[in-house]
Amino acid sequence: MNIILLGPPGAGKGTQAKNLELSKGLVHLSTGDMLRTAAKNKTPCGLEAKKLMDRGELVSDFVVMEIVSERLDEKDARGGFILDGVPRNVVQAHMLDDALAEKGLAIDCVVEIVADDEALVERIGGRFACASCGKGYHKEFKTPKVEGVCDKCGGTEFSVRADDTPDTVRNRLGVYHKKTEPLVHYYEKQGILKKVDGMADINTVASQIESAIEGCDK
Ligand code: ADP
Ligand code: ADP
Ligand code: ZN
Repeated sequence: MNIILLGPPGAGKGTQAKNLELSKGLVHLSTGDMLRTAAKNKTPCGLEAKKLMDRGELVSDFVVMEIVSERLDEKDARGGFILDGVPRNVVQAHMLDDALAEKGLAIDCVVEIVADDEALVERIGGRFACASCGKGYHKEFKTPKVEGVCDKCGGTEFSVRADDTPDTVRNRLGVYHKKTEPLVHYYEKQGILKKVDGMADINTVASQIESAIEGCDK
C-alpha cells in the first residue's frame, strides 16, 4: 500500500509515519529528512536547499521530485511506502502522479492530519530528536522514558531543527495554507482522501489513521 500523509508542520506526520512503518511494514520517505541529509553532506543541491529551508520556503519542485523519484526506485519502496512532506503543492502532485504512473505505481490513500495552528506552534516549539538515530520527541507530549536517554538507541545527545524557530514556523504555516492545503481538494477529487483529528493524543491519532487506511483498502 502506498500512502501520503498530508498535514501542516507539526501535525504529527513524522511521528505517525514511524508508527506505520512498524505496524504495516511500509517505508517512511520524508523529503524533509532527505533534504536535511543532503544539506549535512554539503551536496550542491543540499546547500541550496538549506538556505530555503532555514527561511521556511519551499525547495525547487524539480530538485525535490528528482530525489523522490530516485528513492522510489529503490527496492524497499516496492513493498509499499509512506510519503511525508511531499507533495507540497499542486505542481508536485502532478509530477508525482506522472512519476508513479511511469513506474507502474499509484497512491492508494491520502490521510490528512488536521490540526489548529496554535497547537502546531506549541508542538514545534517543543520538538527535539535523538542526534544518533533521529527518533522524535516532544518536551511535554512525548518525553524519553528515562530523561536524557533515547528510548530507541540509548543515545544521550539530542538536537533541535534549525528551522523550528518561531518566525520560521509562522512562515511555514503560511506556506502550508497557501500552497499545500489545496492538495486536500486535489485528492478529494481523486476519491482517496481521508481526514483524521490531529488534535487527539498520539495513540488515538495512530488508531484513527489505521482505520482510515483500512477504509482505503476496500
Ligand atoms: P510533522 O512531521 O508533521 O512536522 P512531528 O511528527 O515531528 O510533526 O510532530 C511534531 C511534534 O509534536 C513532535 O515533537 C512530536 O513528538 C509532537 N506530536 C506529534 N503528534 C502529537 C500529538 N498527537 N499530540 C501531541 N504532540 C504530538
Ligand atoms: P515539517 O515536518 O515540519 O512539515 P519538513 O521536514 O517536511 O517539515 O520540511 C522542512 C523543510 O524542507 C520545508 O520547510 C521545506 O523548506 C523543505 N521541504 C521538505 N519537503 C519539501 C517538498 N516536497 N518541496 C519543497 N520543499 C520541501
Ligand atoms: Zn536514538
